[in-house]
Amino acid sequence: MNSNRKAAIKKRRIFLSLCALVLVLAVAVIALSVTVIMNAIKDKDTAKQNNLSSVNEVSSQETSTPEKKGPEMVQRGEYTLNADYSRLLLVNAEYPLPEDYKYGWNLTKIEAKYHNGQLDQIDAGIWPYMRAMVEAAWKDGVDLKVWSPYRSYATQKMLFENRVKKEGGDEVKAATAVARPGTSEHNTGLCADFNMASSKFEGTEMFKWMCENAEDYGFILRYPKDSIDITGVMYESWHWRFVGINCAKEINNLNITLEEYIKLKGLEPQGGIYDNATADVN
Ligand SMILES: [Zn+2]
Repeated sequence: MNSNRKAAIKKRRIFLSLCALVLVLAVAVIALSVTVIMNAIKDKDTAKQNNLSSVNEVSSQETSTPEKKGPEMVQRGEYTLNADYSRLLLVNAEYPLPEDYKYGWNLTKIEAKYHNGQLDQIDAGIWPYMRAMVEAAWKDGVDLKVWSPYRSYATQKMLFENRVKKEGGDEVKAATAVARPGTSEHNTGLCADFNMASSKFEGTEMFKWMCENAEDYGFILRYPKDSIDITGVMYESWHWRFVGINCAKEINNLNITLEEYIKLKGLEPQGGIYDNATADVN
């Protein structure tokens, strides 16, 4: 009996040991499975995060370095001009140049072959555009020349006083033909009279050419017919003002004057009086 009992105990021990082993193995298998699953989930998350961060990188690249839009450059003959460059300073009887205005602050000399008058200075920023325009007219067989560009205060004063004499002392009437000193665009160097300061200019091929092409170089007919109520100046076919290529086209498309354009755009009439001295052109 004793030996039987011993055998039974031994059997039980073996059975228990086997049970324990199975249990340990089962625990081990479960633990391993859990680890594998956890790792798999972790890998998936990491991959997801990586994807997300790469998406973020792309979008942050897109937002932090937006494509820089440079000025609109246009080719005019051999010259490359900046179509966005503008000079919108308003000068008229209502907006005279301020008393401390630096007359002739940004001038350059016009070579003799481009002008047929006594005066030969122009705003340095607009000269590349005017030169390109005059040369383009020549190419088309049109003898366009600069007659009267920049005028000093003293020259404008002399011209105005002569006109007042001609009008029998009527300053108001004189001012519709010759601007008072300090109220003329010629005092800024941003405009010019071409070939002649005379109503005869309207009948010339130069005038016809300017009407068709001046806007491509940034110039507008500054004092159009029937606009004296707005500009305060009579019709002057010979007087052309630089505003900028894109601005000139817009003004012509809208069929308005510079006074109306500045109002329409909500610009300060003399806000940028010394701004935009030069454009990157060649
Ligand atoms: Zn003029």
